[in-house]
Amino acid sequence: MQTKAKCLCGSVNFEIELSTSKPEVAACHCSMCRKWLGGPMLAIDSGKLINVSGESFITRYSSSEWAERGFCNKCGTSLFYYLLPAEQYHFPAGLFDGELSFNFSHQIFIDEKPDYYDFANETQNMTGAEIFAHFESESESENENGNNT
Ligand SMILES: [Zn+2]
Ligand SMILES: [Zn+2]
Repeated sequence: MQTKAKCLCGSVNFEIELSTSKPEVAACHCSMCRKWLGGPMLAIDSGKLINVSGESFITRYSSSEWAERGFCNKCGTSLFYYLLPAEQYHFPAGLFDGELSFNFSHQIFIDEKPDYYDFANETQNMTGAEIFAHFESESESENENGNNT
């Protein structure tokens, strides 16, 4: 399905293709996301960017060698985390208006989560080390193992 997402001031509009009307949402507790957003990032797992309007309002910040973080240079909305090697956009769930329902399915960098908050949702949680190990094993073989401790 196709859906739309936009920033706070409305200058940046995205058309995004989703494989489901109930996309999975992941929380990232890493210190960079919390600095960038002021709190944990809640973002959909995958979405294909079909069209952008207001491109000139998007500034891309290279936050690491493998990722860029896009924001609206008029209103400051955090627009996407872009993973360079996978050419994959992760859009914050808050950019989508209305029509979608989300499945909050996992939390990553759980080891970097500060003590002052906890989500009550039942999710699959992964530490930073587990994520890197997961990506390494994934590039070698398809490993579908849902049991992470
Ligand atoms: Zn804006
Ligand atoms: Zn993060």
